[in-house]
Amino acid sequence: MWGDIKINGFTDGDTILIMNKPWTETEVWKNESQYLVWLRGQFRKIWMDFVPKNEFLNESCNPVSFEEKALHGLHPRTKTAGKCVFCKKVFGKSKLQVDHKIPAGSMLVYNEAPKYLLRLLCSKDNMQLTCKPCHDIKSYADKHQMTFEDAEKEKQAIAFGKWAADRQKDYIQSVLGLKLNEVSNAKARRQAYRESLD
Ligand SMILES: [Zn+2]
Repeated sequence: MWGDIKINGFTDGDTILIMNKPWTETEVWKNESQYLVWLRGQFRKIWMDFVPKNEFLNESCNPVSFEEKALHGLHPRTKTAGKCVFCKKVFGKSKLQVDHKIPAGSMLVYNEAPKYLLRLLCSKDNMQLTCKPCHDIKSYADKHQMTFEDAEKEKQAIAFGKWAADRQKDYIQSVLGLKLNEVSNAKARRQAYRESLD
């Protein structure tokens, strides 16, 4: 099961010995995609513990005074806080996350793993501080290759799509001023809501 595999992105002649198909060597994983689910989880754990990432988080947060806590609505026990790069609001350190400015991208096939890992464990220059809601929007934007603003609207439209149908219809009529026969089904209602955000 060992073989020479050339990995895209490495310079010519660099060949790395990697195990071809680990998922075939055990019953635990049925196929490559199940293996990749496991591997992504393992990589995420490495990122969670990644020392430069945790240093960046600590370095980006500052002690907060009693007055600052009151001003920003922080929990009384908050010791240090930092500012989300997207919404510019101040959060306690425990509510902040570290985002990749240039995203780590995806790992859809096994031989993308080395490149993915190297991009994931990036330098501090590529890190930025975000709150959880903004991080979710940024991740959605990265995944779907759209702007942060569009991703924010898409996510709002997704949330609208989860409302009960009656509530959606009510909103469509009373807020958007549309007739219900113009938006006959759930997809059309969501579309109308999404367009109203532009
Ligand atoms: Zn934010």
